[in-house]
Amino acid sequence: MVELKQINGLGEKGIALLNKMGINSVEELLTYYPFRYEQIKRSDLKTINIKDKIIIDGIVETNPSIFHFKKRLDKMSFKLNTGDNLYQITIFNRAFLKPKITPGTKLTIIGKLEKRTSITAYNLRFGLIEQEEITPIYHSIYGVSEKQISKWINKALDLNIILNNKLPYYIEQQYHFLPKTDCINIVHKPNDINLLKRVVKQLKYEELFLFMLKMNYLKLNKSNKIGLKRNIDYKKIEEFINNLPFELTIDQKKCVDVIYDDLTNPKRMNRLLQGDVGSGKTIISFIAMYMNYLANYQSALMAPTEILANQHYNNLKKILVPYGLNVALLTGKTKTKEKKEILKKLADGTLDIVVGTHALFTDDVLYKNLGLVITDEQHRFGVNQRSSLKNKGITPDILYMSATPIPRTYALTLYGDMDVSSIHTMPSGRKQVITTLKSEKEIKEVLTEMYRELKLNHQIYVIAPLIEESDKMDLKNVFELETNMNKAFGKLYKIGVLHGKMTNQEKDEVMTKFKNNDIQILISTTVIEVGVDVENATMMVIFDSFRFGLSALHQLRGRVGRNELQSYCILISNYETERLKVLTKTNDGFKISEEDFLLRGSGDLFGSRQSGDMVFKIANLKSDYSLLLKAKEDSELFLKNHHEDERSKYLINYVEKYSELD
Ligand code: ADP
Ligand code: MG
Repeated sequence: MVELKQINGLGEKGIALLNKMGINSVEELLTYYPFRYEQIKRSDLKTINIKDKIIIDGIVETNPSIFHFKKRLDKMSFKLNTGDNLYQITIFNRAFLKPKITPGTKLTIIGKLEKRTSITAYNLRFGLIEQEEITPIYHSIYGVSEKQISKWINKALDLNIILNNKLPYYIEQQYHFLPKTDCINIVHKPNDINLLKRVVKQLKYEELFLFMLKMNYLKLNKSNKIGLKRNIDYKKIEEFINNLPFELTIDQKKCVDVIYDDLTNPKRMNRLLQGDVGSGKTIISFIAMYMNYLANYQSALMAPTEILANQHYNNLKKILVPYGLNVALLTGKTKTKEKKEILKKLADGTLDIVVGTHALFTDDVLYKNLGLVITDEQHRFGVNQRSSLKNKGITPDILYMSATPIPRTYALTLYGDMDVSSIHTMPSGRKQVITTLKSEKEIKEVLTEMYRELKLNHQIYVIAPLIEESDKMDLKNVFELETNMNKAFGKLYKIGVLHGKMTNQEKDEVMTKFKNNDIQILISTTVIEVGVDVENATMMVIFDSFRFGLSALHQLRGRVGRNELQSYCILISNYETERLKVLTKTNDGFKISEEDFLLRGSGDLFGSRQSGDMVFKIANLKSDYSLLLKAKEDSELFLKNHHEDERSKYLINYVEKYSELD
C-alpha cells in the first residue's frame, strides 16, 4: 500500500477528507472510480429531436439576465450564437458566473433541447469544443468537490504505481484483459470511448468475479449437508399459536408452515426469512424454537446487539418459559460465574434455548444437541465475525432473519442454495410513518414538531452518528444533542442518553426508563437501530442522516409506528438530500433496498458501510446483472477445477473475516 501523503500537494486536511470517504491509500484513491462520464462532442443537429440531450458551442450574444425565486434558486438566461442558430440558453443556480459571461464569451453548452432554438443547460464550460473529450465525473461527498477529487486522482496517477489484476491468469488470457495499471489510467483519463467501455467492463467483471467466488466458495462448503429429521406434533404448534395474544398474519402463517416442513424433513434447513421492520419475524423464530424443543433439541438465537438480545430474552421468558422451556441469556457482559453455569447447562442439555450476542460462538461454548441456530438481523453480521459452533456431531438447521429485504433475483444469485421466505403483510392496525426531510437551518420547526408530540405524552428517539465530539468529523454527537435538547425541553421533560460505550447495565437502565416513560427523549447512536420495541414512542429524529444508508435509516424509522398511533420520522441533513428523499416517499422496505442497490451497490445488505468488503466500487448488481451471471459461472468453474491452494490465493483476505455458522 502506498500512503496518501506521497501524493504531491495533498495535505493533512485533504487526507482527513479522503479518510472520511473511506480512502486510506493511493491504491484506494485510484480505485475510486468515476460514476459516469461526460462526452463532449458537438451534437449532430440533423438527427437531434426535441427533448434530446444536446451539446453545442458558440459565442454569447447578450448579457445574461438573472431571476431569483424561492430561497436558494436562481435562473440565468442569455442568447448564444453557434453560427447556424441563435439559441436561448437557460441555466439554474449559476448566477455566480454572470460576471464571466458577457457578449463575445466562448461557451460550450451541455443540456436539453427544449424547443427548436431553446436549451435548458445543466452544465456549461468556457471555451469552444476543440476536440472530442470524455470527462470523468466523480461523486462529490462530504463537501469534497468533484474537481478536488479529480485533481487528487490525477496527482496519484503521476506516481506511476503498478497495480495488478486480481483474477486467475487463465481468465485474463481468455478475455484478453488489459494490465490493471493501463485500466486505471484509462478509467480516469479516457480518450477513446470504445476502449473506455472495454476497460469499465473488465473492472466490473473483476469485482463481480471475486465477489461470486467468495459467495460460491461459502456455498460449496455448506451445501449437501444432511440435517435433522424431527417428529413434531403439529397440534401442539396450533395450540401454541392459538394461545398467542394476536392472530398471525397470512404471511407469518405461511412461514411457520414452511419452517415446520423444513424441520421435519431430513434435508438441512438453510433459510432466510426476510420481512420489513415490524412485520413480526421474532414470533416466527420463537415458534421455530418451540418446534425444535418438542423434538428435544437445543436452539441458539443470536442477536447483533446486547439490547436486542436482552429484549428477546425477556420475550422468551414471557412466551416460551410458560411452556416449560429453560432459557438463558449469554452475552459478552455475562459474569464469569454465571457464564460457567450456563456453559455447563448447555453441555449437559439442561438448557433448551440460549439467546445472546457473539458470545454464543466463542470457542468455549459447547452444546449437547444443538438443532437450530437463528440469526436475527442477519445483515448486521456481514463481516468480521467468524464463528465456531461446537456441537457434538449434529448439523443444526439454520434460519437467518433480516429486515433488509433483498430483491428476489439478487437473493437467488447471491445466496443460491438458500431458501428465502418473505413477509409482506404487516400486522393489522399499523399506520404509515410520516417522514420529512429538513436541513439543519430548520431546526426550530423540528423542535416545534417534537414539542407537539411530547405534549401528547408521547416519546421521542433522537439519533446522532457519533457519541462524542470528534476532531476528524464534523458531525452531530450524542452529548452535544443532550445539551441542546436539555436547553429546549429540559425543564418539562426528562432526557436520556444511550450509546455503545455504556455498560450493559447502564444501557438496560436507560432502556427500562424509556420503556416506563420515565424518560421522554432518548438520544442515542445507532445501537438502538435494530429490533427494540417501545410502543409509546412516536417520533424518530435523525441528525446527519446522510451518514447512513437508506436501509439503515428505514430500520431506525421502524422503531416508531409499531402500533395504531400516528408516528413521524424527521431526517435532518444538509447533504445527499436527493438520496434521502426516497424515504419520504415510501415505507416499503423492499423498494428502499432496491434504491440502495441502485445507489450504492449491495454494501448495506452485507454489513456496515464502513466494512468495505462487500461494497462494489464499480459494478452495479442491477445494471450489470448479466455480467454478474457470467462471473458466477466462471467462478463456479474455477472452484470446480482448482485445488484449494490455488483457490485460497483469491480468497485469502476473505475467508478469515467472513462469518458463517459452520
Ligand atoms: P420484526 O419483524 O421487525 O422483528 P417484531 O417481531 O419485533 O418485528 O414485531 C413487531 C411487533 O409486532 C412486536 O411487538 C410483536 O409482538 C408484534 N406482532 C408480531 N406479529 C403480530 C401480529 N400478527 N399481530 C399483531 N402484532 C404482532
Ligand atoms: Mg426483529
